[in-house]
Amino acid sequence: MVEDFAEGRVCFDDNAEGPLHEETSPIQVGEVKNSSTKGSVLLLDIFSGTAGVTAAFTQLGGEALGLDHVVDKNRVKGPVSKVDLCKAQNQQIVMQWLDEGKVDAVMLAPPCGTSSRAREIPIIGKNGQRRRAPQPLRNSKWPDGRPSLKGLDAMKVRLANKLYSFTRRVIDRCCELSIPFICEHPQRSWMWETSFFQSLPAICRFQCIHSCMYGGRRLKKTALLMNFTARNLLLTCDNKHSHLPWGKTLHKGKSVFSTSTEAEYPWPLCKQLASAFALQLQQLNKPLQPATTGMDVSQRMGAGVQPRGKLSPLLVAEFKCKVLVTSSGVAVPREIAADTHAPFQGIPLSSKCISSRTEIVNGDNGEKKEVQISEFGVYRTPEEFLAFATTLIRPLDSPQAVDQSNLRAIVSIRDWEKSEVVSFRTDALKHYLNLARSLSVEEQNFRAGLDDQVNEVLGGKRLLLFKQMCIDAKVGDESLFELTQGFRLTGTMNDSGKFPRKLKPAGITIDQLRKSSEWAKKMIHSSCRKVSADAEVAEAVYQETQQQLQDGWVKGPFSGQQLDSKFSGCWIPSKRFGVRQGGKIRAVDDFSEFLINMSVTSTEKLALYGIDEVVNTARAFMCSSFLHVSSDGSYAVDWNKDPSNGPWLSLKCRALDLKAAYKQLARHPCDAWASILAKVWWSTTNPLLCLLVRCWLSCASTGWLERFASSWQSCSLW
Ligand SMILES: [Zn+2]
Repeated sequence: MVEDFAEGRVCFDDNAEGPLHEETSPIQVGEVKNSSTKGSVLLLDIFSGTAGVTAAFTQLGGEALGLDHVVDKNRVKGPVSKVDLCKAQNQQIVMQWLDEGKVDAVMLAPPCGTSSRAREIPIIGKNGQRRRAPQPLRNSKWPDGRPSLKGLDAMKVRLANKLYSFTRRVIDRCCELSIPFICEHPQRSWMWETSFFQSLPAICRFQCIHSCMYGGRRLKKTALLMNFTARNLLLTCDNKHSHLPWGKTLHKGKSVFSTSTEAEYPWPLCKQLASAFALQLQQLNKPLQPATTGMDVSQRMGAGVQPRGKLSPLLVAEFKCKVLVTSSGVAVPREIAADTHAPFQGIPLSSKCISSRTEIVNGDNGEKKEVQISEFGVYRTPEEFLAFATTLIRPLDSPQAVDQSNLRAIVSIRDWEKSEVVSFRTDALKHYLNLARSLSVEEQNFRAGLDDQVNEVLGGKRLLLFKQMCIDAKVGDESLFELTQGFRLTGTMNDSGKFPRKLKPAGITIDQLRKSSEWAKKMIHSSCRKVSADAEVAEAVYQETQQQLQDGWVKGPFSGQQLDSKFSGCWIPSKRFGVRQGGKIRAVDDFSEFLINMSVTSTEKLALYGIDEVVNTARAFMCSSFLHVSSDGSYAVDWNKDPSNGPWLSLKCRALDLKAAYKQLARHPCDAWASILAKVWWSTTNPLLCLLVRCWLSCASTGWLERFASSWQSCSLW
């Protein structure tokens, strides 16, 4: 049976190393790709270890993020965030992501140390004596942990139980929200007996596999608790191979339990787990999209820089198409030859077997039957290859990821009469001026509810007008408007939904940060002294601070006692130092030293494209003669058009510097205690302490500013 698979379908397994080479939609009539990360499918790999499943899922074209409390950078295979899931606030973020629909599938592999049956195996010493094995921490009577446990053992069990309880909460939520999950643990693990795994939701079922059938070297019986069926995860040992023994073994010169060396999933198992998720997601109408070129790479290409190696987009896929073949009881050929046996003989000659998985299905009489599902890649003929290649356009010659609203503006400027452009601009300006007038009462009312210092900073800015412009421009960053309450310096930053997800949890809680204030207050003096060695820099920074005091950008100066009474003794200073930058000396406040930045949890990864984006947009404008607008509004490049003599051929640029960008925005009043700058001047003994009332460059504020700038770009009138 040969099923034809559409070209460009997700490939499940390419034997090649590295990222999957898939045909990204060929840039024929130079299609402009959208920058949005929406539409991608996210697998959350909780307790990811070396992130094998994360890596395998990414290869299939999905997005995946591993979470684990230890990240070994040398061994990790995919993207992992270092997160301690024993902490309530980190658990909370995961639950929130599930609730908010940000996660499409969940892999769970809770740590198994305390539940391992290996603890019950006696150890045989060098001379044949039995030695005491580590004490079993759980048993059938006390699966949640033996009550007699003390010290380290008791703590280990308590922490493991915390994680099991969290695992169960994730499982319950996945079942409620129909998010496919797989929870992996050894079949005989005590974990399954614990109270956390009783009365599971009705939709849950167990599938058992022997890892030797998935690349493992030992006969490891693994149970997979899941809320869907995966027919490729049912294989048990066929006894056609040998196994390595269990017990204590030498590993890198140390005697360890073989269970621990076998804890990392073999790569074939990772691939089958990932493909089980992919198949299930496909059934849920969430197909995995082949990985497209990253936004940063697209922007660089748009600026005329050719990416190297694997970063370059694949223009011609290795295969013309793929076919799926189901067989049973016969060997699967690696390549199709003239004499290949049934049922493979219908596939074009030389086609290559890309992947093969074994599934257990019910036969005609209800008996269990193994079938092999293999995918073959069919090559192009040399003629087909040539014909296809001639239709391609060099990626450097097509618009790459230019902002849609900019493209719209560029094409309109190209096509409209000058007078039409002028009247469009006038109308738009008039519209917003009128809107500003009609919003003025509302604006006043809105401001009445704002903090005084925030109000002072935002004075003269028409906030509600900006909000409406963001809506009109479809900025889509719903929480952006919260900036009118001021920027946070501590705690959890809210998402914009515009950047890729990346969990970077806080290292300390705000409470812990508050407790560290005594220490920070004592240390600040010597800390300031250290950065005042260069008298010229110190003087310049001091003068700048004085100027900011005059301008009202910072308040003060205050004495330590004044701040103590203002903030009930709890405030954290940040030293101000100077850096020479292009002949100028710039003042920078260090929010890291006393851990303010560490209290920030962020859940997105900022993508800054910098000058590449500017050059890319300029290039698109200068080549706009070739831009073609389709009836559905999409843009393409048509090289058959004449390069007309538009004024954009001699495009002039002007940099509009947002004057002291950060200072245009206010700091949130709740973070006043953590926004105190300290500066020692060479002749003073006590540091100058001032309160920052405007937004300053900190870990948290860069994200906000980038979001602000990006929305501002979308709103700008052309
Ligand atoms: Zn086996």
